[in-house]
Amino acid sequence: MKVLFATSELAPWVKTGGLGDVAGSLPAALRAQGIDVRVLVPAYPALVQAFPDAVEIARPHWLGGLLPTPGLKQAAMPDGTPLLLLDYPHYFDRPGNPYLGPEGRDWLDNHLRFGLLSRVAAWIGSEASTLDWQPDVIHCNDWQTGLAPAYLQFLPGRLAKSLLTVHNLAFQGLFDHASLFELGLPDASWNLNGVEYYGYLSFLKAGLQLADAISTVSPSYAREIQTDAEGMGMAGLLRHRAARLSGILNGIDTEAWNPATDHHLPHHYGPRRLEEKAVNKARLQEEVGLEVRDDLPLLAVVSRLTEQKGLDLLLQITPQALELPAQLVILGSGDRAMEHAFASLAHRHPGQCAVRIGFDEGFAHRIEAGADIFLMPSRFEPCGLNQMYSLRYGTPPVVRATGGLADTVVDAADQKHGNGFVFGPPTAAALLDAAQRATTAWRDPALWRRLQKHGMARDSSWATAARHYADLYRSL
Ligand code: ADP
Repeated sequence: MKVLFATSELAPWVKTGGLGDVAGSLPAALRAQGIDVRVLVPAYPALVQAFPDAVEIARPHWLGGLLPTPGLKQAAMPDGTPLLLLDYPHYFDRPGNPYLGPEGRDWLDNHLRFGLLSRVAAWIGSEASTLDWQPDVIHCNDWQTGLAPAYLQFLPGRLAKSLLTVHNLAFQGLFDHASLFELGLPDASWNLNGVEYYGYLSFLKAGLQLADAISTVSPSYAREIQTDAEGMGMAGLLRHRAARLSGILNGIDTEAWNPATDHHLPHHYGPRRLEEKAVNKARLQEEVGLEVRDDLPLLAVVSRLTEQKGLDLLLQITPQALELPAQLVILGSGDRAMEHAFASLAHRHPGQCAVRIGFDEGFAHRIEAGADIFLMPSRFEPCGLNQMYSLRYGTPPVVRATGGLADTVVDAADQKHGNGFVFGPPTAAALLDAAQRATTAWRDPALWRRLQKHGMARDSSWATAARHYADLYRSL
């Protein structure tokens, strides 16, 4: 079984969220299942730098519309997975985030940049390809590669099957009608059963409509997105394709996220040396300027600061949460107004609330290890990774019952399996109530150890997910 994994992000080199992590881990796990996987990703500066010896193996041409002729370079990732770099500096040799220009706005030519990525994925899966390797399946991810199944529709000869995995339905890749011509798509694709979405061209809708199978990153999210309330305008289409839609829970990188070996941590610990987690707490409190106290629970957030993550609810209850009493540490970036609101909270509660705006991988690890309780009050959460990191680090999470959070966190009320705290309505009151239950439980050492141990014993490795994906590929 040969699979082309097409992605716009690839951890650890280029990552804005969960997609980058998945792309960085799943291919190796698939190879361990005997699948011959190659990863296709744009040659962003970080990748050009990381793979200076990449060799050009093809120049796909006549791609249609205004699409240029790029180079295709091959390299090998450290784990041995072959990497195909889509080399077109005019599109991809740009600083920063893969999607946004310096002012924080989308690049104006994103349709061409990710149209080219989708088109080259389809080229590799078609008879036009000059590579000596033909995939059976193209595994597309999110809107950025959602157009590949549309291109495959209009190519002649033997073609690869396609799977589209939705990591976040909120990003739909919407562009105006004129882009149809620029992308080299035929007029015949402009209809309800093609790429059109209410007068726009939507990369995501095209993929949902035309891929041979659809998956998303947790079973709960697969059900939720078929409801009008959570389907982000795609629910009708997803219900229509329900027989082709499944949910496969993400794993995590259990080597990078292992408290017994994590090189970001001041002190290592494990399920049998849990009391030593306290060293990380004290060092974290020092690092962020909180009072070094072991008699207060330390609550934590590592997140994009957006409404999706429900952090506006946390803003509303922070004063009461601090009076539980507790301390709070936050690492995140995103919505400017939210960044300011959190920064001013920290200013008003020195020693008790610390906020760092930015993206800092090492600091995220030290927070997971040093905090007592992790907060994730997401309005929706396709899978979520941080709650799984928290479980593994003995930091029971407080989560809303949605998507992958509902599939991974079991409320403490379940004595046999409880590993965290789950609340229902997306309201400040429900979040405060759950945070209070958590801080109360923290004061009961026997109960707390049990929750921590249940969480740390959970299997979050990629092997299980890879087996499900392998079955799905075979079904195609
Ligand atoms: P999403 O993909 O919706 O942002 P996930 O929980 O699936 O949410 O994945 C987020 C990933 O990004 C996690 O690996 C998390 O640790 C990381 N992350 C988010 N914000 C930050 C930050 N400010 N600093 C470091 N890592 C972050």
